[in-house]
Amino acid sequence: MVFDAIRDQPRAVELLRRALASDRVAHAYAFVGPAGAGRTTTALAFAAALLCESRGCGDCRACALVATGQHPDLHVIAPTPPETNPKGARAIRIAAIRELERQAALRPVLGGRKVFILDDAERMTGESPQAFLKTLEEPPARTVLVLILPRTRAVPATVLSRCQIVRFEPRRDAAAERGRALPLLGEVRAGGVDALFHRSDRMDREDAEALVDACWLLCRDLLLAKAGAPVDLLIDADRADEVAREAERWSVDDILETIGTCRDARAALAINVMPRLTVEIVLSRLALRAA
Ligand SMILES: [Zn+2]
Repeated sequence: MVFDAIRDQPRAVELLRRALASDRVAHAYAFVGPAGAGRTTTALAFAAALLCESRGCGDCRACALVATGQHPDLHVIAPTPPETNPKGARAIRIAAIRELERQAALRPVLGGRKVFILDDAERMTGESPQAFLKTLEEPPARTVLVLILPRTRAVPATVLSRCQIVRFEPRRDAAAERGRALPLLGEVRAGGVDALFHRSDRMDREDAEALVDACWLLCRDLLLAKAGAPVDLLIDADRADEVAREAERWSVDDILETIGTCRDARAALAINVMPRLTVEIVLSRLALRAA
């Protein structure tokens, strides 16, 4: 079953399974939770369950088409930069919502339903939320809409009130994720940033944001260590000794400047500057500064 692959979100999965089993699937869902919690993965599994005759067997043609992003009744809408400026702010623009409306009015091609996933739905800009609200208010038959959101307040209340909310908890391994910067710093010093990345050339925005955040939190730990704070205040308390040694290599000004680099990197990622390049710059600066 497609839901078996989803880790750490038993409540969300149970809610969706029950809706499927009782055939009481809502017209619209809001999958709400932090990035990296598995919202999009779950939305795709849910789509497979809705489009497969055996509720997401994982083996049939419909499931395979969903898995490869080729199912004609599944539409994933994600923010894009402006047509005239590939580096501009990514948004779900009115044209994308109009296209959704058009597609939603058509009959399903293969199965009994159509599924629309709006990734980063909080990036609907301008007239988009209002136009989308119209679709929500008069939902086309046999259509399921899934909004992926970081917080409930990320879209107007009028939109959210028409969605069934499914909450996603932060991953339990989020703590490990946060302590990732210090070991990475060691690797970058030993082999350079290229050595670190050649094994995984692809890096998506969520990965990159998590890495930049980890660097940001390392700076926080370094400041705390320099200030002689109790060990249990550290994000990475398991590595307290290493953090203390690292902190000796840094001046407070160095740390503050690196925090500035993290802030710039976060802003750059928000407008979709190449994620991997952004992370490389942050890690290189981090490694150089305290060399
Ligand atoms: Zn199937």
